[in-house]
Amino acid sequence: MALKYKRILLKFSGEALMGDGEFGLCAQTLRKVVKQVKDLRDLGVEVGIVVGGGNIFRGAQIQGSGIQRTTGDHMGMMATVINALALRDVIESMDIKAQVLSAMSIEGISTGFNANLVKKQLSNGEVVIFAAGTGSPFFTTDTAAALRGVEIDADIVLKATKVDGIYTADPKKDPSAERYTTLTYDEVIQKNLQVMDMTAFVLCRDHKMPIRVFDMFKDQAVIRIVQGEDEGTLVSS
Ligand code: UDP
Repeated sequence: MALKYKRILLKFSGEALMGDGEFGLCAQTLRKVVKQVKDLRDLGVEVGIVVGGGNIFRGAQIQGSGIQRTTGDHMGMMATVINALALRDVIESMDIKAQVLSAMSIEGISTGFNANLVKKQLSNGEVVIFAAGTGSPFFTTDTAAALRGVEIDADIVLKATKVDGIYTADPKKDPSAERYTTLTYDEVIQKNLQVMDMTAFVLCRDHKMPIRVFDMFKDQAVIRIVQGEDEGTLVSS
C-alpha cells in the first residue's frame, strides 16, 4: 500500500514508556513502542521522535522546595535525555540505526541538533531521537515536537497517547463522550480542546502542520495512519 506520510515526527510522552508502573521505564513497554518504530521503518517511513520526560521528572512538580522553576525544567529536560538514550538502544537492538540529538549539549552522550544533517540522516533510514525538548525552560516536549516537526519538514506530527484521539469530553469520566475523527485548527480553539499545549498547537497551525492524536498501544494504528487510513483524530486546516 502506498504511503500517505513519508516522514513523520512521532511524539511519545514519558508516561507512555513506564507501562503499569508509576515511575521510570518498563522494558516490555519500551519494546512494544519500539516495535512500532521498526514496523514504520520496514515500510520505508522516515521517523523522527520527540520523547517526553514525565515518567521521571517534570519541572513544575517541585515548586515550593526551593528549587527554581528553571532548574526544575533543566532537570525535566535531562529526564527526556534518559528516555531518549533508552529508546535509542532498544531501537538499535532491533537492527535499526538510531541517534540521539539533544537540545542541551551533553558531550560524549549526544550530539546537537542540525536540521540539514537530520534530514540527510532520515533519508538514509536512520531514526533520529530529539532529546531535551526545545532546550529552554518553560516549554514542553509537545512544543519540541511541533518545532522539530516543522524544522525537519515532517509530513505530520503524530501524538501518541493512551487515549485513541480527541473527545468531546474526557471519555474516562463521561461515557457519552464522542471521538472526533477530524477537526480544524479553528475548531480546536473554539471548542477549547486539549490537543497539545497552546504554544505547540499554534506553531503547527501557523505552519499548516497536521497533527494526529492516536492510541499508541492499539495494534497497527500507526501503520494504518501512515497508509492514509483513519485512526484517532486528525487536526488540520
Ligand atoms: N521541558 C522544558 N523545556 C522543553 C521541554 C521539556 O523545560 O522544551 C521540561 C519541563 O520541565 C517538562 C519536562 O521537561 O515538565 C518533561 O517534559 P514534558 O512534561 O513535556 O514530558 P511528557 O509530559 O511528554 O512526558
